[in-house]
Amino acid sequence: MNDTANFISKETINMLSNISLDDVAERLGHTLRRSGNNYALFCPNPNHGFEKKPDTMISLSKGLFKCFGGGGCGCRGNNAISFYSWHTYGSAEKEYFKDSVIGLAEIYGIPVKFENGKVIKNDSVQIVPKQRAVMDEVPAQPDEICNKVYRRYLSLCPLLEDHVKEWRERRKYSDSEIQAFGLRSVPTSVEQANQIVRTLLEEGYNLDRIPGFSKALKVNGDPANEDDWYWIIGMQGKYYLPVRNELGLIVRLRVATGRTDGKAKYVWFSSDPTSPDEIKNSTVYSRDRLRIGGAPSGAVINVTVPSKLLKLWKPGDELSHYFDTSVAIVTEGEHKSTITANYTNQLVFGLPGAGNYQDLIPLAKRMQIKKLVIAIDTDAFVDKTKKQGKNVIVFQHLQNMVTLCIKEDIEVVLWCWNPEDGKGLDDSLLNGVLPIEIDILTNDRKVVSLPYTG
Ligand SMILES: [Zn+2]
Repeated sequence: MNDTANFISKETINMLSNISLDDVAERLGHTLRRSGNNYALFCPNPNHGFEKKPDTMISLSKGLFKCFGGGGCGCRGNNAISFYSWHTYGSAEKEYFKDSVIGLAEIYGIPVKFENGKVIKNDSVQIVPKQRAVMDEVPAQPDEICNKVYRRYLSLCPLLEDHVKEWRERRKYSDSEIQAFGLRSVPTSVEQANQIVRTLLEEGYNLDRIPGFSKALKVNGDPANEDDWYWIIGMQGKYYLPVRNELGLIVRLRVATGRTDGKAKYVWFSSDPTSPDEIKNSTVYSRDRLRIGGAPSGAVINVTVPSKLLKLWKPGDELSHYFDTSVAIVTEGEHKSTITANYTNQLVFGLPGAGNYQDLIPLAKRMQIKKLVIAIDTDAFVDKTKKQGKNVIVFQHLQNMVTLCIKEDIEVVLWCWNPEDGKGLDDSLLNGVLPIEIDILTNDRKVVSLPYTG
């Protein structure tokens, strides 16, 4: 290491960041399968472990890559340097940045310039890399606006008998819990969806950049003519699960897909717009897939409270006015969070996936949480289907979370349960079995008792 580590020139970083992701992936030996504007490949993270099929996506229009295999190992990024870093070091943490820049530059024979004028020349033959399409991610509307549109939208969506039955029987929600949670079915026909969109527009709601809504082009429409585009709703999936922020605003919708084929059981209600380049280069044959006006949902943490409190919580109010928020339980998924909140009478943070914890500590600090209880599925410790007997990736996420908490002076404990009592914490609780709490620093263990007093 030397003192130039942090001073690689912007010029070099920009040059390397603009290399197209498919170009660097192929040069690193990955096999890419193209479908539309995306590529599928096996995860570049060497720690990912065995994969049956290529579940990592490169989106050319967005200039992103992301691993979805087994819920995702956290491998994701938006430029060639981070791709190189994941491929080479199994991580894109800062500590690998400089070596990744140098390694990537070497592949292309690009000299690495430092701010102090020093240059690492590369003797290898210079290759002109393919440049990536430049498109900034479209931001969604602020939370307050999304909240208003989603609340009205949900109120217009149907409640299908099958779904209500599932919520009552499988999830054991009472009708008033279903109501408080705000569960609703996805519209079942195009006519119904169109009617809902019409109502929203007539009532003056602006659907622009609300994730899940987007405009499609009329048949034989001209992409350049604004009037040839009309609002639509993505209609895949069974029902919606509202996702709330710390002020109780419904900021995103999660969609239960009802899939049992190993594909995602939950997806985001999201609407990535097509890149302007792709619209410009579209032909009459590809125009039915063009979308404008939408925004990607991102992956947000679901702030969940017991249903009886949810009924009282006025959107926009700070939760601490109603409820003790010194402790929060961290788990995954919307149903799990709600069931856990109801059974423990605690605040629960539902992570969209075990790897999506980057926003956890900032959220905990904003809410002045003193203690986090990490209750991630037990396959982090025991997974007989995995060679090492534990799911290494989830375990890694868990370790990272604990380290972050300790760094920020937030007390942290783990909740564990026997997988035979239920795969998720919700299953275990529904089966009447309380978890075991492990103090990370002392390794003390005790059975959790309710009411939980921290
Ligand atoms: Zn992966």
